[in-house]
Amino acid sequence: RKHYVVQREKAAEAQREKENERRLTEAKLDFFAGISHELRTPCFLISAQIEEIVNSGSGTVSVGALKGIYRNSLKLNKLIGNVMDIRKMETGNLNLLARDTDVTALLRSLMPDYEGLCRQKGLYLKFDLPNEPLLARIDPDKIEFIMTNLITNAYKYTPSGKGGVTVSLTKDDSCFVIKVNDTGIGIVKDMQEAIFNPFFRTERGRKESVGDGIGLSFVRKLVELHDGEISVESEVNVGTTFIVKIPLDNKLNIRKLKSGG
Ligand code: ADP
Repeated sequence: RKHYVVQREKAAEAQREKENERRLTEAKLDFFAGISHELRTPCFLISAQIEEIVNSGSGTVSVGALKGIYRNSLKLNKLIGNVMDIRKMETGNLNLLARDTDVTALLRSLMPDYEGLCRQKGLYLKFDLPNEPLLARIDPDKIEFIMTNLITNAYKYTPSGKGGVTVSLTKDDSCFVIKVNDTGIGIVKDMQEAIFNPFFRTERGRKESVGDGIGLSFVRKLVELHDGEISVESEVNVGTTFIVKIPLDNKLNIRKLKSGG
């Protein structure tokens, strides 16, 4: 009888694993479908703008039209880069291109992207930045990706008119610390580790906003590539703070850079 129970448990376990595998595959396919959808917008805008030029029959092209095409091709490039980075991350082939960077200026440059968004949703957006440059050896594109994800989440998971988002930057002797705080739906304690798993989304998160559950897993890997740490503090219906701590002078990055990574 005992034997029978063990057998049954094993079968149930195998069934669960199979189900998890199926969900992961499903989530990956959804993710790629979503990205493909996003790629269509800049592609469409580029071809529409070119079509307009061709159809105008005029011998000259306006700088304004070219700027539009240029902007959208950059966007396209960036999206494709993100897809490739995610694949590289999965296979462990993503390296940093570290250089001395003013983190204060980097964060400040992101602010305009979110000001309008937050205003439209009736949320405040605050950047608490030092008054002077804060130099660190980082990969600026990767830090931008980290910040974009954290700020977008803070915005997405805060209901309209319910407070807002605060980004702060400080430093101690060896590290700089970025905090992204929101006054949103929060994350239950039991899920605060799982949200860093690829394709994981909370039930409450699903109800609040769309997403694919890939962002935070990618963010954590990028922080770790910088020899840093990411943690989360959150209370349901009060808000969430993500804390990113990264060494100012990262020897590992220099080594990677020298080895041609
Ligand atoms: P996505 O937002 O695309 O679902 P992420 O990997 O960025 O993917 O986040 C994973 C999950 O963590 C989200 O689905 C959401 O449930 C939860 N989450 C992330 N950031 C926040 C936040 N600021 N407040 C509340 N929940 C959050």
